[in-house]
Amino acid sequence: MIIALPSSGLTLVPNKILCIGRNYAEHVREMGDVAELPEEPVVFLKPASALVATGGAVVVPPQSNDVHHEVELVAVIGLGGRDIAEERALEHVTAYALGLDMTARDLQQRAKQNRAPWSVAKGFDTFAPLGPLTDAAEIPDPQALRLRLTVNDEVRQEGATRDMIFSVAFLVSYLSRIFTLEPGDLIFTGTPEGVGPVRAGDVLEATAMGPDGLRFDPLRVTVR
Ligand code: MN
Repeated sequence: MIIALPSSGLTLVPNKILCIGRNYAEHVREMGDVAELPEEPVVFLKPASALVATGGAVVVPPQSNDVHHEVELVAVIGLGGRDIAEERALEHVTAYALGLDMTARDLQQRAKQNRAPWSVAKGFDTFAPLGPLTDAAEIPDPQALRLRLTVNDEVRQEGATRDMIFSVAFLVSYLSRIFTLEPGDLIFTGTPEGVGPVRAGDVLEATAMGPDGLRFDPLRVTVR
């Protein structure tokens, strides 16, 4: 998948999809599998082959009977780097979008029980829908957004990015001390509460709202 930046029209090809788990306290509670909030970000990756653009389809794989939606704010890296200071971190983000961290919950539960990685549960083709990009210049504070996901026009997830345990700036800095960040890398920043199953025929629509009437172009995918 190639993504075009809204302001310049420059295109980027995502290489890494870095994902953060357990970044909203209410979601940690609803999952109920750990007692404590994380002291450090929970990091996992998805392959770029999981990406699907708005208007596309999420395909439920035959290996799972319980695929869940997780709506998330996604930061798009425009300027690469390593060991980025938190104070400068947002300068490396060129755009934001809504994303869906689609998760085969049954396979993830089995992986947790077996103390195995989440790569399969999180990494199937089409498990990373990515919405239209909003220029980071329009979003001076990524912690001042409200996220919303509807399934068949019914609200299923609503959250405020101010409730993130680890902020976007912190995450960019933290991740850059592990991975060299490259233009086009995506950071899925975790989901608020309200995750739940999808089924074939569902229409998922995600959007975000910010101060001064800012509204993201929606991410819309169908499930099949
Ligand atoms: Mn997630």
